[in-house]
Parts: sequence; C-alpha cells; structure tokens
Amino acid sequence: MTHSIAVVGSGPGGFYATEALAKAGHQVDLFDRLPTPYGLVRSGVAPDHQGTKNVWRVYQRTAHRPEVRFLGNVEMGRDVSLAELRDTYDAVILAIGAPIDRELGIPGESLHGVIGSGPLTGWYNGHPDFSGFAPNLDSKGIAVIGNGNVAVDVVRVLCRTAAEMTKTDIPAYALEHIAAAPIADVYMIGRRGPLEASFTPVELRELGAMAGTVAVVDPDQLPEQAVATNPKDQKLKEKILDTLRGYSRNDPQSQPVRLHIMFYASPAEILGVQRVERLRLNRTKVENGKAFETGEQFDLEVGTVIRAIGYKVRPVEGIHTTNASSCYPNVEGRIDEGLWAVGWAKRGPSGVIATNRADSIAVIDALLPTLSAPPKADPRARIDALLRERGVAVVGFADWEKIEAKEAETEGTEAPRKKITSWDELRKTALS
Ligand code: NAP
Repeated sequence: MTHSIAVVGSGPGGFYATEALAKAGHQVDLFDRLPTPYGLVRSGVAPDHQGTKNVWRVYQRTAHRPEVRFLGNVEMGRDVSLAELRDTYDAVILAIGAPIDRELGIPGESLHGVIGSGPLTGWYNGHPDFSGFAPNLDSKGIAVIGNGNVAVDVVRVLCRTAAEMTKTDIPAYALEHIAAAPIADVYMIGRRGPLEASFTPVELRELGAMAGTVAVVDPDQLPEQAVATNPKDQKLKEKILDTLRGYSRNDPQSQPVRLHIMFYASPAEILGVQRVERLRLNRTKVENGKAFETGEQFDLEVGTVIRAIGYKVRPVEGIHTTNASSCYPNVEGRIDEGLWAVGWAKRGPSGVIATNRADSIAVIDALLPTLSAPPKADPRARIDALLRERGVAVVGFADWEKIEAKEAETEGTEAPRKKITSWDELRKTALS
C-alpha cells in the first residue's frame, strides 16, 4: 500500500528520511521554506569544507526519484499549518533542525558586537535570511565562546586568508568583509579542559594549517596524559592532546594572526558602553567532568564576542517546547500519532552529517508499521489546491536546478559556485 508522507525540511535528516520512505515504496512531499534544498549542507557547513558539502549529490539522487516531490519556498506556519499537513498526509516528519542560538545569559549580551554562530554561519554561507547581516568585526581582538566544531568552523573562516577562501563558495560580500577586518588575535574559549572539549581531532588539526595564522595554547593548561573511559575515546583524546602540545610550542609572533586556544574560562560579563569593549571571564577548574568557578577573573580586550554554544528549536504551534528546548519532545522520533521528528529536531544539535543517516532510517523503521490504515485520499491534489488558493509560488526541484545552473556560472574564478544570496533573486531565478 502506498502512503503519502510530508517531510518538512530538506537538510540531511529530511533527505535521509525521504530516501528511506521512497525505497519502501511510499510517496514523499519534501517541503522547505527556502527555494533551495540541502539545509545545513548548503548554509551551515563551512565554505572551506567543500568535501563535506559534496554529500548534496546523494540528496540530489533522492530528489530525482519518482516517489519524491520537492516543494521549496513553502513555509510551515505561514503558508500551510502543521495541522493542515497532518490532516492531508498519512504522516508528517519534522526535519526542521534547531536553528535558534542559545544565549550565554550574562550581562552585556545585548551589546553591539555580540554575535550568534547561527546568523554568522548563515551570513558566510549566503543564506538569504542573513546576507544583509554585516557582522561587526572591526577590532583586533575577537572572542569565540565554545569548544565545539562550530566554534572551530567560525575561527577558521575568520582566520583564513582571502587567497585560501577563493577556492570556496563564500559570497564575495563575506570574503571582502572578513579580509578588511583588522583581526590580529582570536580567542577560542572553552569553559572546561582540553580533554572535555567536543571538537574532533581532524578539525583541531586544521587550525594548525592556516596560511596567515598561528595557533597557540598555554602548555600549563595541558594535562600530562589523556584519560578516557573507553579505548576509542582514549585514542581521540590522545590525538587532541598531541595536536595541542604541538601548538603550545608555536612562536606567537610567527604569523600576523594569533589563534589563542583557551581552556578553563567561562564568560562572566561583556563590558562596553554601546559596543563590546572587553570580555570578563571566570577562571574555572574541572572536577568529575564539571566546570567550577575558582573565584579568579580576568579580562580580554575584544570588540566582538561570538557565541558558538549550541542551538535550540523554533516553537511550532501544537508542540510543547520551552525557551530552552534543544529538540521537540519525542520518543525515538515519535512526537504524536502520525507526527515524527528526525535530525536535530529529534535529538538536538549533535552529531555529524553521517549521524543523520542511521538516525533517520531508525525513525522510518519505527514509522512504517504505523502506516497500516488506508491511505488518505489525494494528498498531493489537496495540498496543491490549498497552496494555489493562497498564492504560494512553489519552487519545485527543476526550478531549484535553474538556480543551481546559474550559480555554476563561475568562469574565470576558482569557486565551485557563485551563490545567489537574496530572496528576490532566488525566487526570480527559480520561477522565471
Ligand atoms: P557542541 O559540540 O555541543 O559544542 C558546544 C560548545 O559550547 C561546548 O564546548 C560547550 O561546553 C560550550 N558551551 C555551551 N554552553 C556554554 C556556556 N554557557 N558558556 C560557555 N561555553 C558553553 O556544539 P556545536 O559546536 O554547536 O556543534 C553541533 C554539532 O554539529 C556537533 O555534534 C558538531 O560536532 C557538529 N559539527 C560538526 C562539524 C564537522 O564535522 N566539521 C562542523 C560543525 C558542527 P561544554 O562542553 O562545557 O558544555
């Protein structure tokens, strides 16, 4: 029996769920609020990680399957409600990620120059919501809070030279804005120690291979030995420690930009009159894996503070969340009868792209046995009529491919594509 499922969100989680459903013989309508597919692969993964971004080819194959339709430029909550989708389809899967930045919750956070990693990564990836963002980077000192892979991405994109970035698909506005910034000292700050940091060894190593930047770390912050509870973690921690030991021997004056990798420091207050002038930190110590303040404080002279401390979900009508929810309440992906979640919407902002494949397949394995009732009548005709009635200009996959073709016009450059970054131009290109 063929059922029809709406998948909302066309990032990795949504695409892997779509693929599993299509392979099981079901019909999928894959919605996205953007006229472009691929979610964080297009607008989250750093532009200098084109190898990672290439996974879009797998999703493109899924989008071309006969069971699958892409409905871009359709926003749930604006153009169609979740209740309408649930009423129309046999099941609805939310793959809408966790797009809202978590806050530090400290004094001074609303000063000009405090930036969330969400808008920043969207900006340097040409996301149309953030292409006009122009972050304040006009100071020598920049603090990046967090020791995860997002912090590492942000640091790399800010520190790399323009020459290194020309082979990427970073938009010209971001390339020029960063190249013009007087950045001399970037501080990547973890509230716990090197062994508790969540960045991964390969990503940490990349920080030592940037053209105009030297990575440095205080050797006194590095433990003698890596200690972990299992052999796999032990190996990871040893690699991290090895790389950091190498950085601790670097000459800070050997490059124009210094990347200070700092541990045991937790933000206490951001100081400044109208804009950020200093960041005050509490010195911490770690006991049983937890950070405790020691009572000692110190200041860094920075004009920009970037939060890279994780994300939370956007509220959705009909689903209970709080201001701190990092995912929608679910049990193994099931939110309610006929309503499911995958990806970050299901498990919170964790894991690499590949994590989503096994995770989405597991959710579909749990969902399929619940589809035993007779399929609902004509879901596609009903949704098309409803969207037409509301004047929604749906961008199909062939329409998106017009954007893709235009972005591929890069003669005379080394860039893999030249992204279209405004809503108007994206829509015009897709629908002309
Ligand atoms: P993450 O790995 O959870 O890192 C968040 C960081 O923020 C942690 O260091 C955390 O410290 C810190 N933090 C949280 N609240 C804080 C606070 N109030 N004050 C100071 N520090 C605070 O998350 P992420 O970096 O956003 O990455 C999300 C997921 O995407 C991860 O699974 C990541 O691996 C993945 N990702 C992968 C890549 C890649 O493969 N290249 C690139 C980007 C993202 P504590 O540990 O002490 O809580």
